[in-house]
Amino acid sequence: MSTISDEFRRLHPRSAELYEKALRVFPSGVTHDIRYFTPFPIYIERASGSRKWDVDGHEIIDYVMGHGALLLGHLHPVVTRAVAEQLGRGTHYGASHELEIEWADWVQRLLPSAEMVHFTSSGTEAVQMALRLARAFTGRDKVIRFVGHFHGWSDHVVGFSLTPEEMPRAVGIPEGILQSQLLVPQNDPVALQRALAEHEVAAVIIEPTGASWGTFPLELSFLAEARRLTEEAGALLIFDEVVTGFRVSPGGVQAVVGVRPDLTTLGKILAGGLPGGAVAGRRDVLALIEFRDDEWNLKRRIAHPGTYNANPLSASAGIATLSFIADGKSQQQAEATTRRLCRGFNQIIRKAGVKGCAYGYSSMFHLLLGRDCPPPDDDFTWHWEGPPAASIPQTPGPVATPLRQGLLNRGADLMRTGGLVSAVHNEEDIDRTLSAFEATLADLRREGVLWS
Ligand code: PMP
Repeated sequence: MSTISDEFRRLHPRSAELYEKALRVFPSGVTHDIRYFTPFPIYIERASGSRKWDVDGHEIIDYVMGHGALLLGHLHPVVTRAVAEQLGRGTHYGASHELEIEWADWVQRLLPSAEMVHFTSSGTEAVQMALRLARAFTGRDKVIRFVGHFHGWSDHVVGFSLTPEEMPRAVGIPEGILQSQLLVPQNDPVALQRALAEHEVAAVIIEPTGASWGTFPLELSFLAEARRLTEEAGALLIFDEVVTGFRVSPGGVQAVVGVRPDLTTLGKILAGGLPGGAVAGRRDVLALIEFRDDEWNLKRRIAHPGTYNANPLSASAGIATLSFIADGKSQQQAEATTRRLCRGFNQIIRKAGVKGCAYGYSSMFHLLLGRDCPPPDDDFTWHWEGPPAASIPQTPGPVATPLRQGLLNRGADLMRTGGLVSAVHNEEDIDRTLSAFEATLADLRREGVLWS
């Protein structure tokens, strides 16, 4: 009998062929770390709504959703129309244009803390700018971030640091920059307070639903603690809402919890599936980018060029998306679907008698298999009552890879072991995903993966 991996190879010959070609041009054949997959990644030809189609002709229910950029699904007509119209008018003027103002107006209207806005080309760049602003504003160097929290790939926040001991392994980062990062466990106000007291800290940056888009959920009360402690210490608080912004609510996590960060970094949904990012926040902090007199411009001002900043095409997709999702209905729809999906996953996990659970927040979900899990409230919300977990709870690699292969064999694609749900995923998507999951668990049992 063929294994999950054999079946994966059998079903995806054209993807295997393209991967051979890709190996000649890209390190490990991929263009984003998360696309690295064994034995090879699948290649996609087109996408629409909640689905995408691979080069071997399979229809796949997509839970990657543009790495979280596509709250409205692939090719939403409102977004497509806006981009098509803009294409007819030009993609880059190398000049100011009206759409950039409209785009920023939407950010200001939706995000409670957005007194001013500054566009970048990606979330990584937004984080880089936010940290530079915080350092310039406070005159301090150190930045506190939390274990496992991801903020893009700039030198200042490099990679997924699971434990403080892993920090020195960051290769290619100047020692001084590494030393300016302090790593603190999330959900631990005492540790945060200590770090703030012991160092001159410019900023605390946090993923406001927890490490790695909520894989390790944050107690949301921690955000108010972080606000109070940063204020006391004279450090800025930065919410990295690159994933959660406009998804968790039209105003992001900050609108839900009523905590006002000094700066917020944005990306993904902001630009409706096209490249884009932004820093939004306090007027007096963003004022450091202003032009003034020569003395100021030379000595105090933060420079910010960037060829694709606020480009008209991204602006058109961003405006179309933000105006469409402003009433909160898309977010509610996506969350309702995610809750139903998680309930289904948990029923199947219980029936199969394996360790694990599915949990999520808003329209993001995570599957933790082969590990102990707190039984989620409503089969959705993670409430860990034991000692704080030392590292991110993750499905081990030997389970995660065949799980994803097995789901792909049956037409569903996860982002690692989780997913981002759009407002256009429907009942049929859920039913098909749950059947695929149940059958994949049976495959895993047959291979002795989860039951060994
Ligand atoms: N911050 C967070 C929380 C992210 O999840 C990401 C990307 N996944 C980034 C920053 C970086 O954004 P980008 O990939 O647009 O550079």
